[in-house]
Amino acid sequence: MNLVEEKIILSKEGLTNKTDGVLNIQLLSQKERLVRALKFGGMCWGAAIFSVFLPILHFFLVPGLLLAGPVVVFIVYKQTKLILSGSGECSSCKESLNIQKSFYRFPLSIVCNKCNNSITCMKY
Ligand SMILES: [Zn+2]
Repeated sequence: MNLVEEKIILSKEGLTNKTDGVLNIQLLSQKERLVRALKFGGMCWGAAIFSVFLPILHFFLVPGLLLAGPVVVFIVYKQTKLILSGSGECSSCKESLNIQKSFYRFPLSIVCNKCNNSITCMKY
């Protein structure tokens, strides 16, 4: 597993003060990306099989999920990085923030547990 740290800037819209934070990033290898993509695609097709048993809804869910499978596989396979965790300081109340595992996508939006403000994370 290839791990790197990336610095981020945390800010709240409308406020000029910005704080720093750090993200723990996992760099995904070709094999890890393929395994993840097939897992997500498999979940789509598994949900399609399950939805066969849902009356009326199966007319939309079964073809929808079967078609969504390859699209999900493609989107997940394209992801080369994954945010495992992170930390920083809330730019609004100065309380420490914990960032949960998520897709690597910026700007990343998180909610402070203390002041309930939406904080935007940007790359340095
Ligand atoms: Zn806060």
